[in-house]
Amino acid sequence: MKLADFPEALQPHLIPAPGGEMIYRCLGCQKTFPVQKLLYTCPDCRQVLMIEDPDFDRLKKVPAALWKKIFDFRKALKIPALSGIYRFHEFIGPILPLEAVVYLGEGHTPMIAANSILQKRAGVPFYFKNEGQNPSASFKDRGMASALSYINYLVQQGHAQNILAVCASTGDTSAAAALYAAYLRPHVRCAVILPHQKVTPQQLSQPLGSGAAVFEIPGVFDDCMKIVEHLSERYPVALLNSKNAWRILGQESYAYEIAQAFDYDLSRLAVALPVGNAGNITAVLSGFLKFYDAGILRALPKVIGVQSEHADPVYRYYQEPDPKKRRFVPVGVRPSVAQAAMIGNPVSMPRVIRLVDRFNETAGRQRVFFVEVTEQEIMDCQLLANRNGHIACTHGGESLAGLIRAVEAGQVEKDETAVLDATAHAIKFSGFQERYFSRTLAQEFNVYTRPELVNAPVLMQPGGCALPEPGRPLTGADLDGFVKTLSDAIAKALNLKKSPEQ
Ligand SMILES: *Cc1c(COP(=O)(O)O)cnc(C)c1O
Ligand SMILES: [Zn+2]
Repeated sequence: MKLADFPEALQPHLIPAPGGEMIYRCLGCQKTFPVQKLLYTCPDCRQVLMIEDPDFDRLKKVPAALWKKIFDFRKALKIPALSGIYRFHEFIGPILPLEAVVYLGEGHTPMIAANSILQKRAGVPFYFKNEGQNPSASFKDRGMASALSYINYLVQQGHAQNILAVCASTGDTSAAAALYAAYLRPHVRCAVILPHQKVTPQQLSQPLGSGAAVFEIPGVFDDCMKIVEHLSERYPVALLNSKNAWRILGQESYAYEIAQAFDYDLSRLAVALPVGNAGNITAVLSGFLKFYDAGILRALPKVIGVQSEHADPVYRYYQEPDPKKRRFVPVGVRPSVAQAAMIGNPVSMPRVIRLVDRFNETAGRQRVFFVEVTEQEIMDCQLLANRNGHIACTHGGESLAGLIRAVEAGQVEKDETAVLDATAHAIKFSGFQERYFSRTLAQEFNVYTRPELVNAPVLMQPGGCALPEPGRPLTGADLDGFVKTLSDAIAKALNLKKSPEQ
């Protein structure tokens, strides 16, 4: 629809003009800094930052009913800059003009209802929100769209030029960073640092295909993170990890979309997601809180953070019931099929601690829960989900395993509905499925192959008929014999009975 075709009262609100204010706030010393400079940590105390809008109160003045209409009607506009995460422009990047927005098709991922078999297994109705349907096939595109739109804005304003963007990655951050940086050539170049052999071949192919400089180093993600932190403190590079608070803003769109999908009534909803570096859960908590603060949500949903027993520092932190006694201790990670969340020292932990407190306080009761699952549960749940029509990666399996645990523990009740974050596309992590099927997952994963979940191709090598060879297709009676022999063999393997003669 064209702007003139929308209700007149809505027209002035549909296409956002740059406005508001944005500042970095340090979570340690509370100092604030202008966003006209790229900052990742507080220059004074080195703590992580969040981005705030000091003029947020202006958003509260817009009635909730009007916000809901604005977001719904924006769906019908044909403007690329408002087709992705910036449908929620006022909450994600109010100072950015639409000309700065980089839109590559991210966001508005489908929510797919679980069939009755899966629902029965979980104990509650639920949906997978398919983040694998983002352009680089994971949710990281939401944060990159925000971070690179901001960088594009700095370039357009003359605040920055010839930017080298760097990130450490368990695979998906580098895929997304390289894709969005490639779009901004020649102003932005990209370098990614990966733990050698700890990203999948599909993930490795992505930054290579996008033309990024790719460095593989010995160690795990936490080691790569130390290196990019060192680089970003000493060289003029733009850090694209979720330490960069702009990433968090973009990923808040996930929460806004869920709110919109349920017509802003989340009082009986639980949202489950895997937790690695904890940027995603930070964004989800922050997003729901902002919609609540603006009066758009009347109730906060439950949020279930899920971790594998092989990388569980956040879960362990919340195991201590007395908040005063809680102490964060990084853990050494063990191999995990949820490899993109295999992180022992999450950069966003201070943000999580702050936001979980605020979330529960705002709700007046506990709404955030952390659960732990086994590697076995993660693999089995992923395969089960996909056998019932989904495209979940191992981390999507982790979300489902976490939901099952949360239902068993009474944290999610039978009359509630859940949305599970399937954080990436199944094919990025198909190697784990392959190794599960072929029983070649290393011992240290602690995963046993359930025979009933195994699947493998059957090679048909019939005797007694001619076979096609390269460059020599069969014809005539040879072809007829080949077709009949193979069809009969496949029908036999499938236990098919011949249809009655016509
Ligand atoms: C990055 C990632 C995670 C973990 O998200 P964090 O923000 O690091 O907690 C989970 N699943 C997939 C597929 C990812 O790429
Ligand atoms: Zn500080």
